[in-house]
Amino acid sequence: MYGVTRTTRALRFNATRAFSSAPRVHAPAALKINADRLWETLHQTCEWGAAHRYGENPTDTGMARLTLNDDDARVRRWFADEVQKLGCTLSVDQMGNMFARKSGSLKSSAPMIAMGSHLDTQPRGGRYDGILGVMAALEVLRTMKENNFETNYDVGVVNWTNEEGARFPKSMCSSGVWAGAIPIQKAWDLRDIHNPDVSLKSELERHGYLGDLECSSKGYPLGAHFELHIEQGPILPANDCKIGIVQGAQGYRWLTFTIQGKDAHTGTTPLANRHDPLLAASRMIAASNDIAMKHDALASTGILRVPSNASTNTIATEVTFTLDIRHPDDSVVHIVQDECLKAFEAIALQDGKGVTYNWTLDTDSPAVKFDNDCISSIKAAADHIVGPQKSILMTSGAGHDSVYTSKHCPTAMIFIPCKDGVSHHLRSIPPMKIVPLVLKLYLSQLCILINPVQTRAAGFNGET
Ligand SMILES: [Zn+2]
Repeated sequence: MYGVTRTTRALRFNATRAFSSAPRVHAPAALKINADRLWETLHQTCEWGAAHRYGENPTDTGMARLTLNDDDARVRRWFADEVQKLGCTLSVDQMGNMFARKSGSLKSSAPMIAMGSHLDTQPRGGRYDGILGVMAALEVLRTMKENNFETNYDVGVVNWTNEEGARFPKSMCSSGVWAGAIPIQKAWDLRDIHNPDVSLKSELERHGYLGDLECSSKGYPLGAHFELHIEQGPILPANDCKIGIVQGAQGYRWLTFTIQGKDAHTGTTPLANRHDPLLAASRMIAASNDIAMKHDALASTGILRVPSNASTNTIATEVTFTLDIRHPDDSVVHIVQDECLKAFEAIALQDGKGVTYNWTLDTDSPAVKFDNDCISSIKAAADHIVGPQKSILMTSGAGHDSVYTSKHCPTAMIFIPCKDGVSHHLRSIPPMKIVPLVLKLYLSQLCILINPVQTRAAGFNGET
């Protein structure tokens, strides 16, 4: 997701208390992920969209594979070929979401258990955000095939269209349509930020990715959704953990404040006679930081605007700034907002002759809690593979497609560390030796098929 503060918060995991009834799962011993193959495949496919070289090695580049540009179309065609070679059925919906499905031995009509993420990137993105989740899922299918291993129920991979929202400005766009949170017409009408003649729909048509299948949780239901993703934050390395068990995503509210003052000469107007909106805005931003700190929340200003004709020796007339408040608990988000408004009220009267202000709420995104059964299954698998000390319960600071899938099917995410905890950056490199471990974790979920989730997936379709 673009333009969002990337923070992740964590709780030290208490296994006995939280997961005393967790199912015991073990990956079949014979199944072994081919880490070299995964690494090679990931980097080969990153030739489509490689950009911004920073070093000597062939893989020392970032990515600029924006949604439905020619490189994204190339990697999509490659993905379609690969999954079909693996015996999957590929379905493409009206938003170009790609669902690859591998039948299980029961030949059940229950919705598949999906491993999903995205192949699009930011204009100055890295090689792992989203891409790793799709490539990892593909490696799971390859491992299953070469071992002649069949799951009981259907499993598969999803490539969600326009997760980043960098070219067509709506992040988690097509999982949002699938979940019924974004009207399809609005998504289709999104314009290329550099070329208003090009819409998301016209690009879907140009590349042959405007599928017939209805984009909704009824058009292509999922039994569960797991997403492997780089952490994009510093918590895992700081806690010496290899796996983050993501229990949800924090709530956030975005507000815009407009502060009105009065222009005046800086040399002739005494401080006591001023209406200075920039001074008030500065104090408000500083106050929001203090309030957030008090509640262990986050408050950030990403945009501060003064009029373009401002000058050094004139008090500004009007200033606007944004405020992004976040916390895993919605009630804390509201408390921080209330306290900020109260503090801003006082600040508006504080200096000179005061200022007036108004504000708007631009976005209200409540906290999301992932599915307990999915969380338990990841925890049980993580315990088995890396030991209980090496995983940690986390809340995602950023948005992901899983936030939307969680509205319609049991969902959870697996985080792995990335270099220096950075993302949306050319060098966000995850330590690859962890990836095979995490994939084994994927396998152990999918092969044993997490009893409670599986049962619910079957029940979803009227089976028992
Ligand atoms: Zn991502």
